[in-house]
Amino acid sequence: MSATRVLVLNSGSSSLKYQLLDMRDRTRLAMGLVERIGERTGRLKHTPLTGDGTSRETTGPMADHEAALKAVAQELASDGLGLDSPELAAIGHRVVHGGKLFTRPTLIDDSVLAEIRRLIPVAPLHNPANLTGILTARALRPDLPQVAVFDTAFHTTMPEEAARYAIDVRTADEHRIRRYGFHGTSHAFVSRATARLLGKDPSEVNVIVLHLGNGASASAVRQGRCVDTSMGLTPLEGLVMGTRSGDLDPAVIFHLVRVGGMSTDEIDTLLNKKSGLVGLCGDNDMREIRRRVDEGDEQARLAFDIYIHRLKKYIGAYYAVLGRVDAVAFTAGVGENAAPVREAAVAGLEGLGLAVDGELNAVRSDEPRLISPGHARVAVAVVPTDEELEIATQTYALVDGSADRSEGLT
Ligand code: ADP
Repeated sequence: MSATRVLVLNSGSSSLKYQLLDMRDRTRLAMGLVERIGERTGRLKHTPLTGDGTSRETTGPMADHEAALKAVAQELASDGLGLDSPELAAIGHRVVHGGKLFTRPTLIDDSVLAEIRRLIPVAPLHNPANLTGILTARALRPDLPQVAVFDTAFHTTMPEEAARYAIDVRTADEHRIRRYGFHGTSHAFVSRATARLLGKDPSEVNVIVLHLGNGASASAVRQGRCVDTSMGLTPLEGLVMGTRSGDLDPAVIFHLVRVGGMSTDEIDTLLNKKSGLVGLCGDNDMREIRRRVDEGDEQARLAFDIYIHRLKKYIGAYYAVLGRVDAVAFTAGVGENAAPVREAAVAGLEGLGLAVDGELNAVRSDEPRLISPGHARVAVAVVPTDEELEIATQTYALVDGSADRSEGLT
């Protein structure tokens, strides 16, 4: 029997998320999360999906990613899904920053590792952790193909007028300052799934994808190719997020330095961790914010309104970028679950052919679905994202030979 399993690894600085999938029928065999790697007590939550799906939790010191992955391998082995199995075809790694060069999933070798390392200055929080995950997995199974799937890859089709900031070209080029975009795996998956929902090929439709999780980004996808996205050099640009400000006048930063006496690191923390919804009202969970809004809390109401205002501006902007829009798709934690966000984001846009049907919008489901009324010119859809399945699919296509084997370095 040929190898059909793919292990997907998403390594953060102190965490490791994983899923094991069987690509014969695209089913999940196991999933889990290791947290607090490097701290005194780490925690591993492992969920085998072949039996009754009961999770197992273990706590104990988890010195580094190697210890974490070994603990994961042990859990998988005790379910008969060990990483030494000949059925394991490859390991697919989520890599946040692939810069301009990695335009597709890429088989990892030393030169690819060097390039991911070279990109650390533009992704100081993410790429080092992703690299550690890759090196650890390579040490454990040196014989196995390891594939990097980049968050930025889907956005490399953006034209220069969307990808460049209007700053001095030489300075920009010297420091590789441009708009890279993130959440690309999700935008790719959701834009394709939206086309399927409409009964069309991705090459036939223009879609605005709104990925609204704790991090949030919008993208404009023309005939299957991304032409604009709201995150930029880093994930800070664009929409109002759980803890990030999104767009702001860059002069706010000079002001905070000159008048507020703040350091670069303090401002970085302020804008990435203490802004957005949490900065505006103290909560970043949309469920809690909606509960407070329903109770008449003015601060939560204002935070919600600012969030929606920004979202609506991006829908309008991407409508203009695309010229013709076939669908607007909501995805990720907020987009998939928060009906009031979807309703408010589209309210008043009937002139653009956009509307939401109250009853359809209230339906809760894990399936892709339309929430616009039958007569609407533009489909509004809820399309659950599945980044792990997308990473596994891209990884397997590469090692199975059904995709172009060439590395993304173009
Ligand atoms: P990320 O992957 O960026 O951490 P997710 O896509 O999992 O985030 O989204 C997490 C967010 O989704 C939570 O912070 C919360 O605001 C929102 N969310 C999850 N469930 C619901 C719900 N039922 N109603 C409203 N918001 C929800």
